[in-house]
Amino acid sequence: MLRKYDAIIVGAGPAGGMAAKVISGKNLLILLIEKKKEIGVPIQCGEAITEFCLKDMGLKEDAKWVKQRVKGVKILLPENKYFYSRENGLAIDRSIFDKWLVEKSVRKGAEILLETKVNRVERRKDKWVVKTKDEEYAGKILIVADGALSKIARQLHMLKKGEYLLGYQYKFDGKYIKYPEKEWFVMYWYTSFRGGYGWVFPRGDEYNIGVVSKYANVRMLKNFCKRIGISPERKKEINAGLIPFDFKFETRARGGAMIVGDAGGMANPVTGGGIHAALASGKMAGELAVEALKKSDLSFTERYDAEIRKTPYLHKSQLKTAKYFQGWGDEERKFLGKVMHGLEMENLTLFKSFLIGLKNPKYLFRANELLAIRKAMLMNKKYGW
Ligand SMILES: Cc1cc2nc3c(=O)[nH]c(=O)nc-3n(C[C@H](O)[C@H](O)[C@H](O)COP(=O)(O)OP(=O)(O)OC[C@H]3O[C@@H](n4cnc5c(N)ncnc54)[C@H](O)[C@@H]3O)c2cc1C
Repeated sequence: MLRKYDAIIVGAGPAGGMAAKVISGKNLLILLIEKKKEIGVPIQCGEAITEFCLKDMGLKEDAKWVKQRVKGVKILLPENKYFYSRENGLAIDRSIFDKWLVEKSVRKGAEILLETKVNRVERRKDKWVVKTKDEEYAGKILIVADGALSKIARQLHMLKKGEYLLGYQYKFDGKYIKYPEKEWFVMYWYTSFRGGYGWVFPRGDEYNIGVVSKYANVRMLKNFCKRIGISPERKKEINAGLIPFDFKFETRARGGAMIVGDAGGMANPVTGGGIHAALASGKMAGELAVEALKKSDLSFTERYDAEIRKTPYLHKSQLKTAKYFQGWGDEERKFLGKVMHGLEMENLTLFKSFLIGLKNPKYLFRANELLAIRKAMLMNKKYGW
């Protein structure tokens, strides 16, 4: 028999977990379907967020999943130059955080099915029918939160194009790492990452060290570790995954279905950070679902597409900046190093960019690039990781 729900959420990552949290406790029947045996495992993440992200999402920090605090991001450029993006941040444990979030809705009555893969969804009259190997479930609202590969977004023909970055990461026990920086998340913006970057994220008694790029692979990660004096053989875990880079949607909302988080291409194309965007889009979809269900009017969910496009996560300067970085060689990076060394992102003003252009005429025509980068990076301080 077809079991009926008000809302069905596919995927119990941060996006699905947040949507469930918002819908639960309101006398509505919710079903969360997750293909993994254990929520949040294996981890596919650098596990870095801002304090602002939690505040923005109305989530209270919990010692269970906070591993360490940092002052923000330190960005390294060639010739030992660097600059800062200062914003209090947290190294978290995603395997605990993701479960903690889902438990909030389960405690309020949301049903969850683990080890259950959704194979297909289809619109049947006024409902969404969600099919697993053995069962079918019907929901008035469908929230698609099945991550970067989102088979469902494709199956619904809402996703028109999906380009990805690859992320590879080793987790190390801190006792094997001698690394000078312990108060910042460090990003290496070097050409050797072929348009991406390498990261060293301290996290209490551990380090997450990784690479992200269109061309990232294990060799790139091993070479990076060796370059910073860390033996890759000492790793205790490897995490890898796809990150949405350039997704084009016809729409992210149709007929009561909304596509959220990585499935909706929400991750930041400059940094690859997507937790905040996943939480925010899940929250928005959840709130619209509640409104639609309470008023028995699915048209409320259609607003999701326009509203989500207006958020900083999908601002056009993000993709532009990511593409500039992909096209930049050593020379441009050295130039940025000269301009920004020791400073914070805010120090790059319109006036300063113009002066730099006058002193370096070949960069004058690139002042607009610097300004677009500044715009994206200032947004990213809060929303990008
Ligand atoms: C190596 C790497 C490092 C990263 N580092 C950071 C970082 O430091 N900071 C940051 O903010 N972001 C980071 N990200 C991005 C971040 O991990 C994602 O943006 C975030 O997890 C997106 O959340 P989500 O809920 O949309 O998707 P996910 O977390 O991917 O959750 C999707 C869920 O759906 C489930 N699922 C998929 N298909 C089905 C199906 N058919 N049926 C049932 N369940 C299904 C999956 O099992 C999964 O649990 C990183 C990503 C990678 C790969």
